[in-house]
Amino acid sequence: MSTRMPVACLLLALPILLSAQTPAPSHPKMTPKRPTAEAVHSSALVIDTHADTPQRFVDEHFDLADPLGGGNLNLESARKGNLGAEFFSIWVEPVRYKGQYAHRTLELIDAVKQQAAKHPGQIEFVTTPAGIEAAHREHKLAALMGIEGGHSIENSIPLLRQYYALGVRYMTLTWSNSNGWADSSGDIDDKTVPHTKEGLTEFGKDVVYEMNRLGMMVDISHVSDRTFFRTLIISRAPVIASHSSARALCDAPRNMTDDMLRAVANSGGPNSKGGVVQVNFFSGFISQPYRDAMKAIEPEAAKAVQALKDKAKAEGKEATPSDIEKVQRQFADRIPRPPLSLLIDHIDHIAKVAGIDHVGLGSDFDGIGGQLPQGIDSAADLPKITAALMARGYSAEDCRKILGGNLLRVFREVEQVSKELQAENRPRITDKQPFDKWQK
Ligand SMILES: [Zn+2]
Repeated sequence: MSTRMPVACLLLALPILLSAQTPAPSHPKMTPKRPTAEAVHSSALVIDTHADTPQRFVDEHFDLADPLGGGNLNLESARKGNLGAEFFSIWVEPVRYKGQYAHRTLELIDAVKQQAAKHPGQIEFVTTPAGIEAAHREHKLAALMGIEGGHSIENSIPLLRQYYALGVRYMTLTWSNSNGWADSSGDIDDKTVPHTKEGLTEFGKDVVYEMNRLGMMVDISHVSDRTFFRTLIISRAPVIASHSSARALCDAPRNMTDDMLRAVANSGGPNSKGGVVQVNFFSGFISQPYRDAMKAIEPEAAKAVQALKDKAKAEGKEATPSDIEKVQRQFADRIPRPPLSLLIDHIDHIAKVAGIDHVGLGSDFDGIGGQLPQGIDSAADLPKITAALMARGYSAEDCRKILGGNLLRVFREVEQVSKELQAENRPRITDKQPFDKWQK
């Protein structure tokens, strides 16, 4: 093989050469310098796939231009942390909003759009990978939406289509509640809750198919293991886990086993480059000791929440979710926060098991009562993750993939699959698709 390379080739190969730690050229001025973590982070397109801030917009009249006020995400922190795109979570609490799922879903969607409308110079509401890149070029935060929990569609494919039309670009098939057509890891062991026979009903398969056809990313965070594998058999597009960590490191049913990590990496059709697992920052998902400590104080915390509810009821009121969260937070604050290195361990584990092309960030900011690892208090702290990854030997190119490149690749492929499906007649969905690679 010739050692001569055209200049363009050399430029393309530079990150590989840097990461491969080739011997330094003899001329000292030519020594390739490893970019600083700061330079890597500030030049990356950083994408986070899960923040629960929309509830704050609606319930607390929180504005992204406001100070954080106990939350994890606002415009200032996004700017400081070079956050390029956020998928705002459209999450409808299933008990409180029973009978009004669509109503609440629409209010949350509207709230995200109102934020973009209020801050046109700083936020761009977008619905495509190209839109994310365009907003980033203009130094604006790209705002996107994902629905967390299939109960929002109220068993209606037309509703699903209209959510897509409004700009929703992923849907987590379930939240912690099974919804009749897909099962949740949150109640799969609860015998009083009806579950599907095989993880997805026929309607559930139709939902996944329609999401593929529309170009809405299928999110398998929160689902039961059986629903996970059933979904991966039938999804024609690669799937995402918008906010899940690794079960091998912290035994939470919301986390993913090594088999599941590999399955996500192999998801999609035969020519797919595979899906992505976006690591959840929640202390109870990244640290086993933290999780054990949480379990130990759970009965006491549940008692305190019940007392709060009883007190409110006696006064003819209803305890608000934020009041309940305050009580829960008091208990959580008794447990020492895990070190940031544990979060990095999860990214590292997924990169090793699933591959460097299959891991990203799904913070769960504003959805986990501030129970975050040490040093991560808001989006402003995201550069610390890049610094920690580089300290472990991750190259600039690897970091850019983790920070957003991988998600962008999957999002593009989901768009491509949608185009292909819209051009073909709808095939009958069966369990025996030709691309059930993960079963090999
Ligand atoms: Zn969640």
